[in-house]
Amino acid sequence: MRVKIRRELLEYLLELAKSFYPREVAGFLRMKDGVFEEVLIVPKGFFGESSVYFDLTLMPHDESIKGTFHSHPSPFPYPSEGDLMFFSKFGGIHIIAAFPYDEDSVKAFDSEGREVELEVID
Ligand SMILES: [Zn+2]
Repeated sequence: MRVKIRRELLEYLLELAKSFYPREVAGFLRMKDGVFEEVLIVPKGFFGESSVYFDLTLMPHDESIKGTFHSHPSPFPYPSEGDLMFFSKFGGIHIIAAFPYDEDSVKAFDSEGREVELEVID
């Protein structure tokens, strides 16, 4: 399985993660024609210090939302137990960026926590 993301969006997500470090940042990802194109940032206060907390009741009703993004202040871009529970509830694709937030520290997972290939589209 492979998921596509626009280069501008990936670069923006990495900048965002850097600017929030050492805190985490989270957002919903919008897909257009099979490519993740846009992020809707989850407002501050909906996620805690050590683990991102997405409140699905606050999620905008938007059928183009096909996944999520969040950052980890650690160098490990792998889902925590809380992340996995959330992924399975949400479905879709989940992108995690770990410190130091370069292209090598980004990974994508399906709703069961299996890594999927992230294809960057120019
Ligand atoms: Zn996480």
